[in-house]
Amino acid sequence: MKLLVATGNQGKLKEIRRLLADTSLEIIGLDAFPDVPEVVEDGDTFEANARKKAIEMAHATGLLTLADDSGLVVEALEGAPGVISARYAGDACDDDANNCKLMDDMEGVADDRRQAAFHCVMALAQPDGECVTFDGMISGLLLREPRGAGGFGYDPYFLVPEYGKTTSELPLEIKNRISHRGNALRKVLPVLQEYASRGKN
Ligand code: IMP
Repeated sequence: MKLLVATGNQGKLKEIRRLLADTSLEIIGLDAFPDVPEVVEDGDTFEANARKKAIEMAHATGLLTLADDSGLVVEALEGAPGVISARYAGDACDDDANNCKLMDDMEGVADDRRQAAFHCVMALAQPDGECVTFDGMISGLLLREPRGAGGFGYDPYFLVPEYGKTTSELPLEIKNRISHRGNALRKVLPVLQEYASRGKN
């Protein structure tokens, strides 16, 4: 069975590929469809954006499609960066600019008020518009200095207290075991298996 993973983020694609490596799914990336227009992520919630991406891409490609929307939610910033995590520092920004803004915003926030969580909603859509969603999250603390060279996005600042490491320092296998995306994707797996047995796609 073919599955389109609708993300242009190579860090996410790498994680999702690894998580689905033991399945018989043929994973197709968005690079196989260069002419399909990008989906505008204008929803107010992770779920709205994930559903929109999955439904539009499944419709455009005719493939069973998995899309996710994810981001960092910081308590001391009343939930920011939230759904705009990827463009927190502006439309044309990158991970460094986002992390810089995050650290500016967190300046002066005491150690015991630096709780944050990564959230993820995965949406699985059929070309006919049928769509189901699954969520996952991981809690942590925001450091003041970056640590680690792996991962992407806000990983170098996101400490997982149980491991004493940032998600940038953790090996991918461990990050996938405990992460927001891993948790959401493990809920998707049985549904994918059911679709495969029903001969969908
Ligand atoms: P999306 O592509 O709209 O889902 O944006 C997700 C953004 O949230 C990314 O660009 C990162 O800034 C952040 N993010 C999501 N998941 C992670 C993660 O696992 N590590 C670090 N940052 C993440």
